Amino acid sequence: MKLCMIGTGYVGLVSGVCFSDLGNDVICVDRDENKISQLKQGNIPIYEPGLEELVLKNFKNKRLSFSTNLKDSIRKSDIIFICVGTPTKKNNNAADLSQIFTVAKEISKSINKFKIIITKSTVPVTTGDEIEKIILKKISKKLFSVVSNPEFLREGEAIRDFIYPDRIIIGSNDKKSTQILRSLYSPLTSKGSKFVSTNRRAAELIKYASNAFLATKITFINEIANLCEKTQIDIEDISIGIGLDKRIGGRFLRAGPAYGGSCFPKDTKAIVSTADKFNINLSVIKSVIKSNTQRSDLLLKRVYEILNNRIKNKKICFLGVTFKANTDDMRDSSSLKMIPKLVKKGAKIKYYDPTGFKKDFNKLKDVRCSSTIQDAVNGSDLVIIHTEWNDFKSINFKKLSGSKKLIIFDMRNIFLPTKIKKQVFKYFSIGR
Ligand code: NAD
Repeated sequence: MKLCMIGTGYVGLVSGVCFSDLGNDVICVDRDENKISQLKQGNIPIYEPGLEELVLKNFKNKRLSFSTNLKDSIRKSDIIFICVGTPTKKNNNAADLSQIFTVAKEISKSINKFKIIITKSTVPVTTGDEIEKIILKKISKKLFSVVSNPEFLREGEAIRDFIYPDRIIIGSNDKKSTQILRSLYSPLTSKGSKFVSTNRRAAELIKYASNAFLATKITFINEIANLCEKTQIDIEDISIGIGLDKRIGGRFLRAGPAYGGSCFPKDTKAIVSTADKFNINLSVIKSVIKSNTQRSDLLLKRVYEILNNRIKNKKICFLGVTFKANTDDMRDSSSLKMIPKLVKKGAKIKYYDPTGFKKDFNKLKDVRCSSTIQDAVNGSDLVIIHTEWNDFKSINFKKLSGSKKLIIFDMRNIFLPTKIKKQVFKYFSIGR
């Protein structure tokens, strides 16, 4: 099939390259000329395991191409995926849909034969109706169908998640489009992924409800971890003990810093805002947002306690600054909240992240990026393990720090307290 991905970010690039690998002709379009010219030269703009090899393979065999020409790309394609950003609005918590509506207008100017127009971007319920209205201003209803096909891939495991999704959700009000998409996804459903066909509004809401539920699970276990710290219980035992109940499930029960990333923070806010519009009070999700917002300050309070409230001139090392491992994405990472506050109190920060330097800290004067773990850790008064990269799991702190005995605050519980305590002066973790 001939596909066009509008927006070549995480979702557009990963799903575009995977669709091309499944044998489709895919054009990935973006308005960012630099991004497209880099991609044409084989330079991948994001860090995602396995992505580079797959892009190069499919670009070489000409099933995958890159373009900035939206009109031409739409005309050449039968199925158009909208994969642009839907960030939080500047003045309130609603999703900013300006990129979606701009693209919808562009599409309406370029339809020359029947097209399926799909929102893969996460959009609030009824957005599909709005897109349809925009296109109807220029184009007859017979020439297009607007479908919702939300994406559930996780950064860091995006390719695996795309190829082996738990489910593929197609929200369509038209049977012909559902049939075409069933066939597009048949290589994945034949390997066991479930195909769920529903109406457009339901598909839109499934995405937000999923993210809000996962954010709730993380926030729940983080709060239980707070209680464990006061009662000398190991949160890991609680996670195992409750996770084995099939009604609960063991995933997303790892206590740690506040959830971050490009999806949970913005999507929890957006679903609350959508519900408010319909006079529905999503009080559980509101509490989740509040608890998560407070979590970075709560963990900072523990940092202050560990350093006896003497922060000025203290050398603090962050191992990992991205919101999770295996991605270079810094969007809404809790390190962005913690590091500026520590700097304000006079701390000197060094960080090491396997994905390198982060321009997000450019404006802070006492933040330095180290190119090795050893350099970052050397001379530190406190080492904070912020992101659970595998690179950190086998560090021998005793060897690394020489005679200086380190204090570690492991915000991801990657070490066993009994083992690590032999290597360091003091070891603190979450919920134990
Ligand atoms: P992103 O910011 O990485 O990429 C969006 C791209 O769209 C950018 O490259 C931008 O230049 C491009 N763009 C914007 N307007 C355009 C236009 N008019 N024409 C052409 N290109 C345009 O965003 P992302 O992380 O890929 O997320 C995209 C959507 O998918 C969001 O709604 C997000 O919530 C959702 N989503 C993201 C993930 C994730 O893990 N990142 C997972 C599932 C769903």
